[in-house]
Amino acid sequence: MIIQNVCQFLETFAPLRLAEDWDNVGLIAGDRQRQVKNVMTCLTITPETADEAVAKNVDLIVSHHPLPFRPVKKLTTDIVPSALLWKLASAGVSIYSPHTAFDSAAAGINKMIADKVGIVNAKPLVPIVDDEAGLGAGRYGRLAGNVVLDDFVNALKKEFSLNHLQLVSGGRDEISKVAIACGSGGSFLDKAAHVGCDAMITGEATFHTCLDAKAKGVTLMLLGHYTSERFAVEQLAMNLKEEFSELNVWPSTDECDPVVVV
Ligand SMILES: [Zn+2]
Repeated sequence: MIIQNVCQFLETFAPLRLAEDWDNVGLIAGDRQRQVKNVMTCLTITPETADEAVAKNVDLIVSHHPLPFRPVKKLTTDIVPSALLWKLASAGVSIYSPHTAFDSAAAGINKMIADKVGIVNAKPLVPIVDDEAGLGAGRYGRLAGNVVLDDFVNALKKEFSLNHLQLVSGGRDEISKVAIACGSGGSFLDKAAHVGCDAMITGEATFHTCLDAKAKGVTLMLLGHYTSERFAVEQLAMNLKEEFSELNVWPSTDECDPVVVV
């Protein structure tokens, strides 16, 4: 088993053509021909997840968020992004990032959230022109019927094991058409309003996006960036384990949400 076998599976699962133009996806660091035995998924490569990868002899990290994201000019331990890259490269750890390709995939993060909240026949909010599979970014669709907002919020909290979430009321007590944009999804608000959604679920949004949502009558539910995506890298570890029984695959155990409610 080599790194390339895993890359091939990931590229079929989350085709790289689905990634946004600004993104940095696919095999970002490493050697496709190298043997692979231990694979760790995580949301982000941080000092904690990089240490875990090195300590547990990981051959390949599948990190949702890319590292590096921006071009790197020096690979030294002087600053954080390049120090993590140096540490991982020195330990022979390859890095694959599916990021926005995973957000938008047929069985990707936004589709998973749409299924969790009961959206029927979810469609992309921003379809890719002439895409053969009809895919694109974000999702939206109708719930099975009108749902009382309070009931929806309680079910959402239960589904994502949250005690709290942030809510911007669009002014209605019931909702029926919901948009999904995992992570920082504020840029999808206009699209959601345009297709007639009365609610949108995302990870995080700026204050001004919240004001905009209120003005447009779209109820915004903010799960937290980590909560809106971390479950999906846990699921991805299970998918990889099913596909490659000879690999050890696990979601990082040392990763946690840097944001806490106190
Ligand atoms: Zn994200």
